[in-house]
Amino acid sequence: VLRAEHIRKSFGNVEVLKDINLSVEKGSVVSILGPSGTGKTTFLRCLNYLEKPEAGKLTISDVSVDFSHISKKDIQNLRRKSTMVFQQFNLFRNKTVLENVTEGLIYGYGKPKKEAVEIAMKELERVHMADYAKMYPSELSGGMQQRVGIARALAPRPDVILFDEPTSALDPELVGEVLDTIASVATLGITMIIVTHEMHFAQEVSSKVVFMSHGEVVEEGSPDEIFVHPKEEKTRQFLQRML
Ligand code: ATP
Repeated sequence: VLRAEHIRKSFGNVEVLKDINLSVEKGSVVSILGPSGTGKTTFLRCLNYLEKPEAGKLTISDVSVDFSHISKKDIQNLRRKSTMVFQQFNLFRNKTVLENVTEGLIYGYGKPKKEAVEIAMKELERVHMADYAKMYPSELSGGMQQRVGIARALAPRPDVILFDEPTSALDPELVGEVLDTIASVATLGITMIIVTHEMHFAQEVSSKVVFMSHGEVVEEGSPDEIFVHPKEEKTRQFLQRML
């Protein structure tokens, strides 16, 4: 469903993504692991064109773009293929929980308001936030806000949901509820790519694990291949520190 080829991205003189290649099968859950500052978040943002790569090709389902000459239409088509769950939730502070989910459906996907509300309420029920539909983000815990973020990402039923370190801004006691929610979304058969530092979670939910270091994919494989039988020394060292 997704194929990234030779993705390159620099900030100034610093080459953050050197030549990233990644294939993701439909319905799979891919975790991206790696040390801080390695470019994991930047790579994820490139997939939704929140960052502009200098070069590379990206295919998501029926949309293919070449980043070295991308048109406005390409960007529009590409952005409809994926949604993002952000580290800092990125909810609209001045909108209710329900409006946070309907907004994108109405203005991004052209759904009539009534249908948008129906879809949104279903997704809020899924993440156990329907009772809070009329509340504002500031009235909710971080874990609740992130569950709203997940409902918002699910609502348009994109081909791919991108999770950018979805639990790293949460107090430790709230991490579990959000990981459980993500694990339940994983059973819906929607393709998910998750940048995370939660090693045990990655090991449990992933169909594929990708280890990145210094702007490159060092190694990828099944959770067993990466966590139990890593081939590369860099992967072994990283896991030793994290587990
Ligand atoms: P972490 O796990 O700490 O979030 P990461 O692997 O996700 O790390 P990125 O956030 O992608 O890494 O950052 C990769 C590098 O790019 C870092 O050195 C970071 O400082 C740099 N970087 C990221 N965004 C920008 C930006 N907008 N401008 C300049 N440099 C940036």
